[in-house]
Amino acid sequence: MKVHEYQAKQLLAEYGVPVPRGRVARSAAEARKVASDLGGRVMVKAQVHAGGRGKAGGIKVVSSPEEAEKAAGGMIGSRLVTHQTSPDGVPVNAVLVEEAIEIERELYLGIVIDGVVGMPVVMVSEAGGMDIEEVARTSPERILRTHIDPGVGVHPYRARGMAFDLNLEQGQRRAATEAITNLYKLFQDKDCSLVEINPLVVTADGRVLAADAKLNLDDNASFRQKDIQELCDTSQEDPLEVEAKSKGIENYIKLDGSVGCLVNGAGLAMAVLDLLKQEGGNAANFLDIGTLNDPDRVVQAIEIVNADPDVKAILINIFGGMARTDVIAQGIVAASKQMNIKVPIVVRLAGTNVDEGDRILKESGLDLIRAYSFKEAAGKAVKAAQKSS
Ligand code: GDP
Ligand code: MN
Repeated sequence: MKVHEYQAKQLLAEYGVPVPRGRVARSAAEARKVASDLGGRVMVKAQVHAGGRGKAGGIKVVSSPEEAEKAAGGMIGSRLVTHQTSPDGVPVNAVLVEEAIEIERELYLGIVIDGVVGMPVVMVSEAGGMDIEEVARTSPERILRTHIDPGVGVHPYRARGMAFDLNLEQGQRRAATEAITNLYKLFQDKDCSLVEINPLVVTADGRVLAADAKLNLDDNASFRQKDIQELCDTSQEDPLEVEAKSKGIENYIKLDGSVGCLVNGAGLAMAVLDLLKQEGGNAANFLDIGTLNDPDRVVQAIEIVNADPDVKAILINIFGGMARTDVIAQGIVAASKQMNIKVPIVVRLAGTNVDEGDRILKESGLDLIRAYSFKEAAGKAVKAAQKSS
């Protein structure tokens, strides 16, 4: 789960990482008010769950409350398209109005989980700012990585070492050491999968401040992070993913191909994606229904997969262990009766109660494309999608 910059900055401030003074505004008039409270030059920053705003017109520096109102008015209610969003962009419903700071240096500070090493890794760089992705690609040695054993945490000497790496003056070094230590504490306390300050700036008057903030929460920890869960802004997410979640279907993922996939189990889902690709196609989405032996829930799942306009064929590939393929078959029959499915459906069932499942599908008289091996199913789905698009 992602949160907005202004929310991330509130958390940073709570943890003692300095941020510029500022407030969120949900209308142009409100932005004007905040700007006048802050006095003079301010930044107006579109609040969306995507980076790359600076290069996309989502960050403006203005020198009066009137200009702040105008800038906010241009952003709020529009959609912002950045290199991290889909071509449709994401809606801007709020802006962060912040004191504009005189920036001397733009540094980078981030923490993510390094899945290979199995530990959090703190990354710092003197080359912070809007081109950090380019830096990572062309000169990765400019980003310094320090792995942190979660059982030990950040030793003070290691935090100091990282601050030294940033070539700071003594007072700033102390501030950066504190920022690194506090950011790690936030990362750990809130079960983050990522926190990122880019840029971490050194101001003309020598302060060290988080000018931007990004924070992602590990969804597996959402049950114990209720406070952060409440910050969730669903307007920023894919509408079908939001709908799936609201129906208790946690594992619906939107992708950009043309085959809608209903499968059970994450491993099977990954294998389906690989096989579709091997057969010359791509998935439009996948929905992992896990084990839910309830035909109504199967109908809901099919409804979500089918609602995606990119779907040109549906592939239902179920390997029944605990999951019963006869229940899946009942769900397919019920879904076909209840809704208007215009695209071809390829069904492959295997495992528990498969004879009964096959019988239900056969007797339903539905016009389904049947497949009996995995490869056959993927191949037929790709062909069906090509034909109907
Ligand atoms: P992003 O492009 O979505 O990552 O948005 P950022 O919040 O990082 O802003 C982009 C760029 O705007 C930063 O790299 C800075 O160069 C600049 N910027 C952000 N805040 C300030 C500020 O208060 N003063 C000045 N002068 N520039 C800022
Ligand atoms: Mn940034």
